[in-house]
Amino acid sequence: MNKVPGRFLGYAFCVGDLLLELDLDFGIMNADGAVRSTLGIQVGADDDPCDFLSLLTERGRGIIQASAKTLTGANRLGPFNIHVGENGSAKEQYVVFMAKLPHAPNRYYFVLSKPYRLGTNSAKSEPTTGPVRIEENKTEFFSRLEGLFEGNAEAEENMQVTFVGAAEGEVLDGRQQQEIEDYLNSFSLGGNHAAMLGDDRFAFVHEKDADGAKKVDFATEIKKATGIQIDAATVDAAEAKLSDQDSMRAMVFSLQQFARKSEGYNASEIEDKCATLIGENTERVAAFRDVLENGSFTLVYQPIVHLKKGTTHHFEALTRFDLPSMINSQWEMIRFAEDVGLIPEFDTAVMNRTIQKLRELQRAGAAPGIAVNVSGRSLSDAEFLLDLVSVLKGNKDLKAHLAIEITESAQIHDLDTLGDALKEIRAVGFKVYLDDFGAGAAGFQYLKKLKVDALKIDGDYIRDAITNKEDRAYLRSMVTLCQDLGIVTVGEWIETKEHAVLLRDMGVDYGQGYYFGKPSAGLIVPRVNF
Ligand code: C2E
Ligand code: MG
Ligand code: MG
Repeated sequence: MNKVPGRFLGYAFCVGDLLLELDLDFGIMNADGAVRSTLGIQVGADDDPCDFLSLLTERGRGIIQASAKTLTGANRLGPFNIHVGENGSAKEQYVVFMAKLPHAPNRYYFVLSKPYRLGTNSAKSEPTTGPVRIEENKTEFFSRLEGLFEGNAEAEENMQVTFVGAAEGEVLDGRQQQEIEDYLNSFSLGGNHAAMLGDDRFAFVHEKDADGAKKVDFATEIKKATGIQIDAATVDAAEAKLSDQDSMRAMVFSLQQFARKSEGYNASEIEDKCATLIGENTERVAAFRDVLENGSFTLVYQPIVHLKKGTTHHFEALTRFDLPSMINSQWEMIRFAEDVGLIPEFDTAVMNRTIQKLRELQRAGAAPGIAVNVSGRSLSDAEFLLDLVSVLKGNKDLKAHLAIEITESAQIHDLDTLGDALKEIRAVGFKVYLDDFGAGAAGFQYLKKLKVDALKIDGDYIRDAITNKEDRAYLRSMVTLCQDLGIVTVGEWIETKEHAVLLRDMGVDYGQGYYFGKPSAGLIVPRVNF
């Protein structure tokens, strides 16, 4: 038996139960590992190579055949879930990775592993449901998209991205969502490049139709298979210049807009507008890059007041930049930076700027406390976290003057890792606030996993609390919970004296809002009287 090439073999033994060398018709030429127990066959027993595809279910066969076509010699595909057994009998689940090696263009190399060897993330595990699943899907889908196209002109030349949305008036239940996702996966590159991005929105990457071949009409196919009417729009990866990093980010942002129902895009609009949309978003990415490179943003400061004493406890630093066209607010700009993946760099810049400001104020003799916003998206980035912890350690003496507010915590996917990081930050002595509590996903499960010093109650609960009994009930329960947990509370959006009094009497510790002071360039201590 020929030896299977070394580098790949090394890799195979790390993760695999079985390594296969196949000819281009999927005949098994060589095998290493637990051949018998995995495939139930003996390789080399007769002269005819055993057909690997005959050991798979129909779905598995489809996945393998479709993906193999896209193997170039430079890429590796997988993991894909398949079921293996002799003559389609014993259906054991395996995860397969596939590669072609540059010096062996007439061979495929497959590594098969039991899913548990790879941990839960590598093979698609049982689908979770609801918003968490969608968030996980999005992150995974976009990072794959980046991995696939970045600097990869060949993939760009051969691939398309199709957006799918349920037609107007169609509401999908969980089963239908799953059906569509499965169906799209079956068309998608390697059988696993489809994702549900919203309750009724999906996207998938697939090969371009061969020249002259009939274009697949996904809307009709899905209607036939599932009975659901959808709109589909296909974008050419080459036309959208997806191998360029900024265009890729712009594409991801366009997809995010599409995924957020509230932004009002439907699939057919995406197709019409695709070039414009990606063009515009590429410009915005460039504008944001300028902001980063030239440091062309300023910080304004808003006081946070001790509600019982009326004294200013610290300030929150908020960013202000010139907005590029089509972005209407600071908040939208931050969301944009999050969606296009530039937020870690930005949060780092704000942190550095704040430290610089605190040093200046210290030299002038009076450094106040300043809280800096850090996006959940940044905190999900391992490199960012490492840098942050090291910057904080290097500025340990500022621990009584600098705190971190975790914003957009819906973007955090690995609460355990973040929980560990927060522990480290707090161990150095810096305080951590959880921002916008009660909004989106920042709920009780976050409090359980993330040990924080203070919690900022989302302004939405406070705005109407004077008139709305329900909002008051939520507020009261948040305050009681925090008191029991020994967590300090901050109420946001205090616009009137009534709000300030209500919150103080409910036991909220600190307050922030226009009543005490709007964000301003100077660190202005308000005169509080209520
Ligand atoms: P946030 O951290 O919850 O900040 C509070 C927002 O509420 C600020 O909006 C502030 O101007 C506004 N606000 C304060 N008091 C009142 C009030 O009484 N009434 C009303 N209606 N609004 C009030 P801003 O500055 O537009 O910031 C929006 C969001 O953008 C912030 O929400 C935060 O999530 C994010 N953000 C701002 N600066 C940064 C930053 O440097 N990094 C990151 N990652 N996010 C930032
Ligand atoms: Mg904040
Ligand atoms: Mg907030």
